[in-house]
Amino acid sequence: MQTISILGSTGSIGTQALQLVALHPERFRVVAMTGHRNRELFFEQVRTFRPEMAGLTEPIPMEDIPADLRFCRWVMGKDALRVAAAEVPADMVLVSVVGIAGLQSVMDALNANRQVLLANKEALVTGGHLVMDAARKIGKPLLPVDSEHSAIFQCLQGAADNTPVKLLLTASGGPFRTWEKERIYGATRAEALNHPNWAMGAKITIDSASMFNKALEIIEARWLFDMAPEKIEVVVHPQSIVHSAVEFADGAVIAQLGVPDMRVPIQYAMSYPERLPTGSKPLDLFALGQLTFERGDEERFPALRIVKECLNAGGAACTILNGANEAAVAAFLADEIPFGGITRLVEGALAKLGPMPANNLDDIFHADQEARRVVAELLPAIRK
Ligand code: NDP
Ligand code: MG
Repeated sequence: MQTISILGSTGSIGTQALQLVALHPERFRVVAMTGHRNRELFFEQVRTFRPEMAGLTEPIPMEDIPADLRFCRWVMGKDALRVAAAEVPADMVLVSVVGIAGLQSVMDALNANRQVLLANKEALVTGGHLVMDAARKIGKPLLPVDSEHSAIFQCLQGAADNTPVKLLLTASGGPFRTWEKERIYGATRAEALNHPNWAMGAKITIDSASMFNKALEIIEARWLFDMAPEKIEVVVHPQSIVHSAVEFADGAVIAQLGVPDMRVPIQYAMSYPERLPTGSKPLDLFALGQLTFERGDEERFPALRIVKECLNAGGAACTILNGANEAAVAAFLADEIPFGGITRLVEGALAKLGPMPANNLDDIFHADQEARRVVAELLPAIRK
């Protein structure tokens, strides 16, 4: 029996992780969980999974907690994440909150010597060097949940001491893969939220449409696998069956395949190195017939170019990219800016802020705040 704390249990990843706990009750027990705004779902989850600690990062008065749920310790506000990550004893901590909110939690969990299962990519995007240092110190590898990174991690299991010469990071291409540049610029919220292969939270779905998701994943892979950015290649693969691949010095390429179902990578992290049933459908290659691959287009998806510039620039450039993108996506989801405005705001923030340091968490949170401030400043000029 392994105990698990789930940060962001009400999200797309969080709810699927809970499905897996329910599928293997003899194997996993939830000891702590946090939600943010979705109280009704969170109450239902607490009722079902009966953790020792529960918390809402968006605080509510204690009297609003239903009487039958007062059996556990309740923590409200930011402390909820810290207590779930580092105070409640747990064999594993799944960080599946969205956004830079995950960085402090990942650091807290690692500093408390916890095995971290990492869904939140923003932690590595903004604080990759600090997170990897902290993981190295406790001698526990981060177990990736992001499907591409889980795929690469799985491909490396038989690699012994061989370091790959290249990572092939696959991307579905999102809903605008075949669209013209001008049409992408004016895309609506509904069009951007309509992902062809994956059902995910709103933020990452918009990022998939702009390919900022792939940009963030390049940074994530750079840190997780200690790879030089130029050895990470984006391969657009619209069927989302090959989840990523690694190439070795002898020319051998090892890939991981499967139907697009996040329960597979979530559970691989939960049961690593063992494999358990997930409820996922088996892959039917005959029904698929063919798998296709294309180059990523930096002209129509500038995120793929901007990320290279940020990785070259170093310092807090990736943090600024992330913070500006988070703020811009929120503005797009609120219908304030056109879809193409996201890229304009990210580029505007990077240009305006220039080089900033990222030596510690304070530097990183400062750069993040600055990126959001500049986005708010630039926003009126491109408001719809
Ligand atoms: P969702 O938006 O579905 O869920 C986010 C979770 O975080 C919810 O539990 C939400 O609570 C909580 N939350 C939101 N804002 C805050 C905050 N400021 N502080 C604390 N908690 C907060 O996101 P996903 O599950 O899609 O994604 C989670 C992370 O996993 C992201 O970093 C994403 O990039 C990554 N990821 C997701 C994949 C997917 O398939 N969904 C695939 C690969 C990576 P509430 O809903 O109660 O408000
Ligand atoms: Mg991914």
